Amino acid sequence: MNYNTAHYTAILEYFRNNRDTIISAAKLRIVLKDYGINVSRATIYRILDRLSDEEKIVKVQQLGKETYYKYYDSQKKNRNAILLRCKKCGKVIQHKNTIFGELCKELFEKTGFDVDKGNQVIYGCCKNCNK
Ligand SMILES: [Zn+2]
Repeated sequence: MNYNTAHYTAILEYFRNNRDTIISAAKLRIVLKDYGINVSRATIYRILDRLSDEEKIVKVQQLGKETYYKYYDSQKKNRNAILLRCKKCGKVIQHKNTIFGELCKELFEKTGFDVDKGNQVIYGCCKNCNK
């Protein structure tokens, strides 16, 4: 590790305390400076990349603009279950699906739209009613 762990922790703390904030690396550097934490540009990017790899934050790309970063709620991430509701008998099946989680992440990264995971219902016909 070629950067200060304290800087890594400070940045992660910032995102944890500002879950709904979307911030650029440049702005984050100014905010940290206000807290008396001086981090170089290169270090900020390295830490942001690492946090992104660890899925603690996500990069939000905006066309023609700089990259923004936002806290990624891992608890929400683990609730990647979709509800399958049968239109015929009303039965609800909770199904954990990693592809759904990936889809939500991709939607968020590409559009900034934060899908309310755990509340998605897909309507259809269950196995029994399908016989
Ligand atoms: Zn059914």
